[in-house]
Amino acid sequence: LSERLQETMKKITGKGKVSEADVKEMTREVRLALLEADVNYKVVKDLIKRIKERAVGQEVMESLTPGQQVIKVVRDELTELMGGEQSKIAVANKPPTVIMMVGLQGAGKTTTTGKLANHLRKNSNRNPLLVAADVYRPAAIDQLETLGEQLDLPVYSKGTEANPVDIANEAIEKAKAEHHDYVIIDTAGRLHVDEDLMDELQQVKTNMNPDEIFLVVDSMTGQDAVNVAESFDSQLDISGVILTKLDGDTRGGAALSIRSVTGKPIKFAGMGEKLDQLEPFHPDRMASRILGMGDVFSLIEKAETEVDEKKAKEMQDKMKSASFTFEDFLEQMDQVKNMGPLDELVNMMPGANKMKGMKNMQMDDKQLSHIEAIIQSMTKKERIEPNIINASRKKRIAQGSGTSVAQVNRLLKQFEEMKKMMKQMTSSKKGKKGGMNLP
Ligand code: GDP
Ligand code: MG
Repeated sequence: LSERLQETMKKITGKGKVSEADVKEMTREVRLALLEADVNYKVVKDLIKRIKERAVGQEVMESLTPGQQVIKVVRDELTELMGGEQSKIAVANKPPTVIMMVGLQGAGKTTTTGKLANHLRKNSNRNPLLVAADVYRPAAIDQLETLGEQLDLPVYSKGTEANPVDIANEAIEKAKAEHHDYVIIDTAGRLHVDEDLMDELQQVKTNMNPDEIFLVVDSMTGQDAVNVAESFDSQLDISGVILTKLDGDTRGGAALSIRSVTGKPIKFAGMGEKLDQLEPFHPDRMASRILGMGDVFSLIEKAETEVDEKKAKEMQDKMKSASFTFEDFLEQMDQVKNMGPLDELVNMMPGANKMKGMKNMQMDDKQLSHIEAIIQSMTKKERIEPNIINASRKKRIAQGSGTSVAQVNRLLKQFEEMKKMMKQMTSSKKGKKGGMNLP
């Protein structure tokens, strides 16, 4: 989206108080940016209306500043627009699950057929069979066969003489006999939507009764992609969309309109030409990407999902009063683990680059389990008053936890720095610049 929108967004995140004028300014920028990004006019209008309604008089989330909350409203609405939850691929009651790939020529069908098979094998341990049913262009069959070789996956093909329905039928028989649990059919495309193409696809559909019909669309074509999606959906009742070439699409217009215009979910996104560059489509991440504020959103997300709210509040109080002890730390350990490495968490905070020099803050998962062991080897008193830990205590703790005195020292130092940082974070929250800003 436009730089101006990003400026406005950045300005508003830091705000401790958001006025009606702020909301107005932001929604105006959001509106312009979306229209610029080729998002359907009506879609934009509805969206802005909802954002305005929600931005005023929303419920307050403890851990976010008002500015961050307004941003969250925009993010949530964009996410909702793109389908809310990320949706999964169907599994047939009786294998094989049949997936039919449709779309215009050049959209990325054949490539995506390979990518999808690769994805199913890698992430779900599936054993897919690829089917070359684009019989009009010999090159298309060769292309899929080459992909199959690269991926070491079987491809069923019959040359250009056979008709697509027969090919698909035979492929399914083969899949049953050879225990392939997925069959992915690459069909023909045209340069434009036309009747012949739709007739053929409809025939394949009627005969195969596929579990999924994925429409592959090129996201770079913007509003055209939306029109294509509309006509394929009205003729074939597609089950989902795969957006390709999202690596080259900075505006996100197609992603935003397709779902609200067709009502069909975007299931995957192609992020490059390579066969591993297909990702499940996450509406929330896309919303963050479109707004260009990934960092702030990841932080909001973590705040929302990982930490149980009451616990978080308790912890915050402790952080404020600087009475956070190793006892609390141990208690938070599971949550800390769920939230990922601490340094990653720290990195996501705006201003974190200023802390890059603090080497002591860097921890990985293995270190976390050492940390846990060290704390567990401390007495209760030591956990609450770490300054009583002298040389002999350090030695005892190191022995008890199977670590070294140097490691114990490092943890004590890290802990002090962490406490300092927490204090800075929470005290700046009271100031006008907003909670997540580090000095
Ligand atoms: P089809 O005619 O629909 O089967 O399209 P192809 O699979 O042959 O793809 C057409 C072109 O788009 C090829 O050069 C692909 O490498 C390229 N392509 C497909 N998906 C992506 C993607 O996600 N990103 C990029 N950058 N290129 C892609
Ligand atoms: Mg093709």
